[in-house]
Amino acid sequence: MEMTKERRNIAVLGSTGSIGRQTLDIIDEYPQLFSAWLLVARSSADLLIAQARQFRPHMVIIADEQYYDYVRDALDGTGIEVATGSAAIAQAVTVPEVDTVVTAMVGYSGLESTIAAIGANKRIALANKETLVVAGELIDRLLKDSSSVLYPVDSEHGAFYQCLMGERMVDIEKLWLTASGGPFRTLPKEQLDKVTAADALKHPNWSMGAKITIDSATMMNKGFEMIEARWLFGIEPQDIEIVVHPQSIIHSMVAFKDGSVKAQLGLPDMHLPIRYALGLPDGRLASDCRKMTIEDMAQLTLERPDFDKFPLLNTAYAAARTGGTAPCVMNAANEIAVASFLQDKIHFTDIHRIIEQTMQQATHVEHPGYEDYVASNAEARAIAESLIRY
Ligand code: MG
Repeated sequence: MEMTKERRNIAVLGSTGSIGRQTLDIIDEYPQLFSAWLLVARSSADLLIAQARQFRPHMVIIADEQYYDYVRDALDGTGIEVATGSAAIAQAVTVPEVDTVVTAMVGYSGLESTIAAIGANKRIALANKETLVVAGELIDRLLKDSSSVLYPVDSEHGAFYQCLMGERMVDIEKLWLTASGGPFRTLPKEQLDKVTAADALKHPNWSMGAKITIDSATMMNKGFEMIEARWLFGIEPQDIEIVVHPQSIIHSMVAFKDGSVKAQLGLPDMHLPIRYALGLPDGRLASDCRKMTIEDMAQLTLERPDFDKFPLLNTAYAAARTGGTAPCVMNAANEIAVASFLQDKIHFTDIHRIIEQTMQQATHVEHPGYEDYVASNAEARAIAESLIRY
């Protein structure tokens, strides 16, 4: 990249989470290209304060209001503006100084600010896949009236993006979405109801936050990524096939109508797709990170996913086919179920049951607007909570 360009001001939403911290690593790696302009955290006040002191953003927002005084007092005298609440986040991402918004918050909470960033024509590095799962149809519509661009941060979608460069959409046969298979890939199905949150948090390859690690163990994460790919690339769900690849070196593949398959490979390190997304559209950012060797690629295996053992894959395809608010309900029920599983309140196999039962009970809206998603999310959460209490 040219060094003469103006630095890009980055808003990091979810800066204290796994993707947020790794985004700050990349900002730190290229200080001549990027600066952190806004940092947003939900409730990790101490880490947010430490990040603010290191990166000197214009502004920090602590979403949870109970930590506002604490953060404001800690940053008193630094000149860094401190705010709180979700309205402040939606407002802050729209200011002219912000060039790029990295959406790395967890779950449904990413929706409002992503919509605000699209309205303000921002470059968006999309790490919050739930935004597209919940409201892909709405986001798709909003993007048509905006000059905003979504660059995927998810490693699989970064792979699709690279494989599709220079290709015509009509030449695509299908997308092959790779999955590590999670920590329970080889565990017999009958033992799944005995696994604990601690077992599920031991992901074989990727270091990620707790919520996505559980989603990876149930393979809900791969169902979400199928829906994410559908909206990012305009591919029908039946043309997206999930393939288990335990080494996580092949980040995904595209099969074309002439029989060719393109794959993108890399080490399983989220810094790689973040670095790629932040470099777009100008080009790749040279790095002295660890590079792949022949040994890393010497033992690559692929297998079909077990839909019987991981039934949430079926749930996700069904929700994608139904459309409307169905994926929103699925996501909301999953957020509640995963939070309960992390607190050891339910069994691992209850996650699927709670999601299916919530989807049966929730109101369906065929062509939802923003308010319908808000209502659907709230209703589904209440249903899922009641199923857990029962
Ligand atoms: Mg992924």
